Amino acid sequence: MNLHEYQAKELFQRGGIAIAPGIVCVTPAEVRAAAEKIGGAVMVKAQVHSGGRGKAGGVKFAPDAAAAEEKSRPIFKLSIQGLPVRKVLVTQAVDIGSETYAAILVDRAIRKPILMISAAGGVDIEDTAHTNPDAIKKIPIDPVLGLMPYQARAVVVDLGMKGKQALAMGDMLVKLWWVFKENDASLAEINPLVVTKQGDVLALDAKVSIDDSALFRHEDLEAMRDTADETAGSILARERGLSYVPLEGDIGCIVNGAGLAMTTMDLVKHYGGEPANFLDIGGSSNPEKVVAALQIITGDSTVKAILFNIFGGITRCDDVARGILTALDRLKIGVPLVIRLTGTNEELAREILAERGLTATTSMDEGVKAVIAAAKGGSR
Ligand code: GDP
Ligand code: MN
Repeated sequence: MNLHEYQAKELFQRGGIAIAPGIVCVTPAEVRAAAEKIGGAVMVKAQVHSGGRGKAGGVKFAPDAAAAEEKSRPIFKLSIQGLPVRKVLVTQAVDIGSETYAAILVDRAIRKPILMISAAGGVDIEDTAHTNPDAIKKIPIDPVLGLMPYQARAVVVDLGMKGKQALAMGDMLVKLWWVFKENDASLAEINPLVVTKQGDVLALDAKVSIDDSALFRHEDLEAMRDTADETAGSILARERGLSYVPLEGDIGCIVNGAGLAMTTMDLVKHYGGEPANFLDIGGSSNPEKVVAALQIITGDSTVKAILFNIFGGITRCDDVARGILTALDRLKIGVPLVIRLTGTNEELAREILAERGLTATTSMDEGVKAVIAAAKGGSR
C-alpha cells in the first residue's frame, strides 16, 4: 500500500525526521489560508500516488498566499499518470543548498534491506540509475542490528558531507531505518533530502510503501488508505479476501486457485478469447465469496460473458453452486454464464444448478470454448 507524501511525512515526523511544516488542502481557498498560516513563500504539491510530480507540473513555488491560491488552481485540474489531483500539500519553501537521494528498501538478491544513497538527488534520479549507476551507493543493512550509526556516517562522509551536516544526515538515515522497520515498510524514500542554504538537513519529499502482508498489525496505517482511485470492484475484492486483477479482455473468469486461474487465462487465449480479469475465490468453501465474485465481475461493463472454472477439492462444488443461485437472486447478471465444475460434491452441485435450469460441463476445454462463443454473441 502506497502512502501519500503528507502521510509519509507524518511517519517521518513521528520518527524524528526533520520536515518542513505543511498543511493538506482540497480547494484553492484552503491553499490560501494554509499559506497565510505557514507564512512566507510556500510550495504547493499535488498529492497523488505517483512519482515525477514535479516534472508533471504538480509541484509549484509561490512567493506568497495569493500566488499559492492561483498556482494551486491548475494543479487541482491536473491528472498525473492518470490520477486526478484531489489534494495538495502546502509546505514552507526552503532554499536548497544540495539535494541527496536516500531510500531504504528490500534487496531480494541479497535478502536484506539496503540503504541506497546518491549525491545526485532530485527529480532526475531515475536517469542517474540508468546512465551512471555507480553514483548510487548501496549499503546492506543487517535486519537484526539495523542501520548502524557508523555505517550511516561513513556513507555520508563518502558522499562529501562534512561536520555538523554529516552528523545530522547520518542521524536522519538511522531514523529512516526505524521508520522503515517499525512500520513494516517495503520502501522508505527521501528525494530530495536537502541541506538548506542555512545548513539545516530536511526531508523535502517522502515516499513510503507499506508491506500489504503486515497491514493487519498496523491499524493506524490501514486507516491512511486512500481508496479514491480504486474501483468499486477492487475495494470489494480486498474486503472479501479475493485476488482480483482486471485485464483488457471481455471474458470474466471466476476460478479457485491461482494455478487454475493462470491455466484458465492460457486456455481462453489459446481458443482465441481475451480474459477480462483474473479472479480467484481461493481455496475456501463459502457461497458468499461466489456472490462477491459475481458482484465484482458484473460491475465491470466490459465483461460480455462469465466463466466459472472450479476444480473442487477443499472448495466444494455444491457451495459454489449455492453461491451462484444466491447471486442470481440478488444481482442482475446481464451476460451469459458458463459453468465448468468437477471434483468434490459435483453431483450435488449439478442438482442444485438444475433447480434453475442451469447446467455445468466437466470439461475445461468445452467450458472455455462455450464462453468464448457466448462473448462473441453466440449461444447462451
Ligand atoms: P516529485 O517530483 O514527485 O519527486 O516531487 P518533489 O517533492 O521531490 O518535488 C520536486 C522538486 O521540487 C524537488 O526535487 C525540488 O527540487 C523542488 N522543491 C520541492 N520543494 C522545494 C522547496 O521547498 N524549495 C525549492 N527551492 N525547491 C523545492
Ligand atoms: Mn521527489
